[in-house]
Formats: sequence, structure tokens, C-alpha cells
Amino acid sequence: MTRRVLITGGGSGIGRALARAFAEGGDAVTISGRRMEALRETDAGRGMECRVADVTDEASVAALFDAPFDVVIANAGGGVAGRLRNITLADWNRTLAVNLTGTFLTFRAALEGMGGGGRLIAMASTASLKGGPTIAAYAAAKHGVLGLVRSVALEVAQRGITCNAICPGFVDTPLAEAAVQAVQGRHGLDRDAALARVVEGNPMARLVTPAEVVAAARFLASPEAAMVNGHALSVSGGEI
Ligand code: NAD
Repeated sequence: MTRRVLITGGGSGIGRALARAFAEGGDAVTISGRRMEALRETDAGRGMECRVADVTDEASVAALFDAPFDVVIANAGGGVAGRLRNITLADWNRTLAVNLTGTFLTFRAALEGMGGGGRLIAMASTASLKGGPTIAAYAAAKHGVLGLVRSVALEVAQRGITCNAICPGFVDTPLAEAAVQAVQGRHGLDRDAALARVVEGNPMARLVTPAEVVAAARFLASPEAAMVNGHALSVSGGEI
């Protein structure tokens, strides 16, 4: 039977890679995001359903679930980098809203109609498992995502549903590019030096590829992963 798969934040980066991989694997994929144009670029003729939705808006998320999904990937996220003293309350609230509240709203709505064998997957981060000097808001939000995942996993276990998190290190996407540019600006480095600084926490000294994150998601979404529940799967070259 064809699975129905929802991926939030499907208009770029990891979400785009996930959407294309699941669609090419034969799943019926719905992607959501704030800009239809970006979603259509992801689809590019692959037959995905494209839905505009802001994950921080309760009604907008609820509207995505007019029919149940078998696999739901709460991927939308992002955040500001900077020392704590420079993080405004608006930055803080925005970062918690998209990463943590967005995952809460997505999973809560997803569980309404989800049947046995359902899969909830949160795109968390190595910042769910450790802190960093300029990521206080992002790390707080992503740590929160893991608390949510671990708790939901216990709630749904007896329904045959699993809830897991993927924790990538820096992945080669626009979000990582923004981090590289921030390091360039902060330290006056050229791009290569800034990139080296960004990946120095990764024992493999390179960015994770979107395909490597996709592989983890495909495993967690598979029937073979039925006993993997409440897990934080680090895809970080040994950073964690
Ligand atoms: P990205 O910026 O390319 O993708 C994030 C997507 O989320 C974008 O399409 C964006 O439009 C969407 N989004 C943001 N706010 C939204 C909102 N309110 N409603 C709906 N959509 C919204 O970055 P990415 O690297 O592909 O990030 C995907 C996920 O992976 C995020 O949760 C991010 O925190 C996580 N992650 C990324 C990295 C990395 O290095 N790139 C590392 C670890 C975890």
C-alpha cells in the first residue's frame, strides 16, 4: 500500500532532499512550507502535493491533516546565531516557535488520525544533545524537541507508532551556509576558513550531506525500525 508522507519545511535543504527521496521511493508525498513557489521547485514534476502552511500557526497546521498520514517528518526549523546578550526576545520566541512549537503542533495534529505502523520523525540536531557558545536559543529549542520526542514515544508505543529524532551535525544546506556567513562576519574570515571553523567540531571535518540525513529518515520510517522508538539518531560523523 502506498504510504502517505508529510514533510514540513519542504521547500529547501533537507526537506527538499527528503521529499524527493520519499517520492522517488514510491510514497505519496505532501510537502508544506510558507512559499508555494519553493514547494513547486522541490516537486519539479514529481507529483507531490504542495500545501502552504506555517508550522507556528495552529490552524494552518491543522488544515494539513484533512486526511491521515503514515509518516510525518517535522522538518521545518532554523534559528538565530549569536551570543546570549545579543539574542532579542523576538529572536528567542521565533526560534522556539518554529523548532519546538512547530514540532508540537505537527505531531499533535498528526496523531489524531494516525494508524498502527505510523511514524513521527523530528528533524532535531546535534544541538539537541549539546550546547554551543552562540546557539543558546536554537539549542534550547532543539533540546526541547528531544524532550517532546522522548515523551510522545512513550505515549504512542502501544499504538504501534514510533516517534524518533534525527540529530544531524552541520548539513550542507542554506542553513549551514548562513552559519558559515555568520562566522565570516564575526571573525573577518574568508569563506574557506569560515567553513573550516564551522566543521571543526565534526571529527570527519566536513559537512553532512542531505543524502546522509535522508538515509536515516528512510530507516526510521521503514517497517524494520518498528522497535526503534524515542531514539535520537546522531548523523554527525562522531561529533556526538
Ligand atoms: P533550510 O533553511 O533550508 O530549511 C528549513 C525549512 O523550514 C525552510 O524551507 C523554511 O522555509 C522552513 N520554515 C522555517 N520556518 C517555517 C515556518 N514557520 N513554517 C513552515 N516552514 C518553515 O535548512 P535545513 O538545513 O534544510 O533545515 C531543516 C531542518 O534540519 C531544521 O529543523 C534544522 O534545524 C535542522 N538541522 C539543520 C542542520 C544544518 O546544518 N543544515 C543541522 C541540524 C539540524
